[in-house]
Amino acid sequence: MPLISDKLPKIWYGGDYNPDQWPREIWQEDLRLFGKAHIDVATLPVFSWALLQPEEDRYDFAWLDDIFDQLAGGGIKVCLATSTAAHPAWMARRYPDILRVDFEGRKRKYGGRHKSCPNSPTYRLYAIRLAEKMAERYAGHDALVAWHISNEFSGYCYCDNCASAFRTWLQKRYGTLEELNRRWYTTFWSHTFYEWEEIVPPNILTEYWQPDKPQFQTIALDYNRFQSESLQECMRLERDAIRRHSPDVAITTNFMHAYKPLDYAAWARDLDVVSWDSYPSNRTHPAEPALWHALMRGLKGGQPFMLMETTPSQVNWQQYCQLKKPGTMRLHNYQAIAHGADTVMFFQLRQSLGASEKFHGAVISHAGHGEARVFREVAALGAELHRLGDKVVDARVEAQVAILFDWENWWAMENTAGPSKDWQYMPQISKYHRALWEQNIPVDLITTETDLMKYQVVVAPSLYLLQPGYASRIEAFVAAGGTFVTTFMSGMVDENDIVVPGGYPGELRRVTGIWVEEFDALYPDERNEIACGSDIPALAGTYEAGLICSVIHAETAKVIGTYTKDFYRGTPALTRNRFGAGTAWYIGADPEPGFVGKLLEHLCTERGIRPLLVTAENVEVTCRSKQGRTYLFVLNHNPAPVRVDLNGAIGTDLLTEKALEGTVEVEGYGVVILETITGNRTS
Ligand SMILES: [Zn+2]
Repeated sequence: MPLISDKLPKIWYGGDYNPDQWPREIWQEDLRLFGKAHIDVATLPVFSWALLQPEEDRYDFAWLDDIFDQLAGGGIKVCLATSTAAHPAWMARRYPDILRVDFEGRKRKYGGRHKSCPNSPTYRLYAIRLAEKMAERYAGHDALVAWHISNEFSGYCYCDNCASAFRTWLQKRYGTLEELNRRWYTTFWSHTFYEWEEIVPPNILTEYWQPDKPQFQTIALDYNRFQSESLQECMRLERDAIRRHSPDVAITTNFMHAYKPLDYAAWARDLDVVSWDSYPSNRTHPAEPALWHALMRGLKGGQPFMLMETTPSQVNWQQYCQLKKPGTMRLHNYQAIAHGADTVMFFQLRQSLGASEKFHGAVISHAGHGEARVFREVAALGAELHRLGDKVVDARVEAQVAILFDWENWWAMENTAGPSKDWQYMPQISKYHRALWEQNIPVDLITTETDLMKYQVVVAPSLYLLQPGYASRIEAFVAAGGTFVTTFMSGMVDENDIVVPGGYPGELRRVTGIWVEEFDALYPDERNEIACGSDIPALAGTYEAGLICSVIHAETAKVIGTYTKDFYRGTPALTRNRFGAGTAWYIGADPEPGFVGKLLEHLCTERGIRPLLVTAENVEVTCRSKQGRTYLFVLNHNPAPVRVDLNGAIGTDLLTEKALEGTVEVEGYGVVILETITGNRTS
């Protein structure tokens, strides 16, 4: 059975639909055009709270009943949204507790969206009630295939309700104020708290000296956790209301890939399926969406995910909203499928006439007919996905290399003061991911809950904050034969952002076999170098490195590379430690990308991990497999055709139904999906 719903055993194709913006005669035309484009799922009503609950005690579902039935009659399934992402104006007027207080301490007024306080009793009461009423009403509808809670949960609130809930959250976490004072290190700057009421949300009026830099990190980190959990609780309460009536339909909420304020790793535990909204621009390097897809796939241990939103053409919110050039919409969507998406869903199906999304791309544009370029491309892709049937549905990506991604680490490292404003998490993650992507080596993004033993190589760039017990899990992984790679500024602090004394990298000192005495921050125009001798021929050479240079003492580790400049010239910059049956590497500075590529290639080769295929630049290869069949995706991100050597693989291209072997030509922005029966690969 497909993971999301057995009612639609194919790659779902459709998207957000706002029939409430249109008269009913347009609905008929929409259904006709949906059929023409092979659209089989519509998400609605994402922002219709004001229509569904026009007054405090009155709900109106008549129009939704009508369109639900019409869609079902046209063979279109429904992904039903709970509509709680933008509260009605009457609610804000009558119950101001629903309005957030922002980071600057300003009480918001009605307007925009996503501005409900997550600890507002009014918001929780009415959001849960609406979700419950919808679940009661539509749970048994045959066209219902998924639940979509709210929309793109986001932002933090700093109001008095949140302050009060924060104190309760802290009491639960720390028990006593004495323990909180100890764990928060409140002896610093006279921060000792005598009463719980003295603790207030950290914002620009209190602990922040810049919008992204608190001066008292322990409280800021806990507020990150608390606000993420508050919104998660709102989502969970809606989920529970739905489940009471609709226990068998998959429930999701749409994520925004690496959205820093919310710990999606924790959120994903509450969902049946992860879904997310992907909006690469024409200038987004293709490795970036590959990283986002892998991150979303990793949140539920490799389970396929839903591409809930993407634009068929341009967006309305980038600085320069370029059109998707012919062929690239198709390519971007196959890239999502190649990394584990089991749906392709657009925002939006019909283009709004007014307000901020009127120039956001749509399947049916303002022209309103099926002759536009974008519609024709969408319809062509719809026909292809229709022909693919259930071929790749629920097939899994298998990787032997993983990159650790931890939201709490992200919050802590970027909250902290020093050592460099350019030390940021995403660029570090991207750099190591990119090196693997360029070599067509499958990689999973994993959370701190993922079992490390599934992998041969685990990379944890700048693992500054170590969760309790995580160092022991790394030690066990390496002792059992794993290859672990970590970098500068790792192992520095505990879960409260308090330094682990006794030499960095703290709890990672044993497994890495080094201790770090100091760390130097380089100006952007300064470079040091890492010089590697001929001990490991694949790494021999001198490589630029900068950002932060750790001054390292090797204990049990072997020195593989040394600095060539500054007073720490000749001291270790790159080390390898044998630990049990495995090895742990420490990269003391931020090296040039070429070095990262060489190192990861060397480590993969050592472990027998080979590229799926060796290809020209920007030709991406991924693999999904199920039930003895593998699907090798070859994606040409270049505008010009390329030739790709299949390295002995023989099979059928699912898109052209042609038998392929040897070397094949892939057209500009083209895609090949080579289906092979496992064992058919000759080398
Ligand atoms: Zn609030």
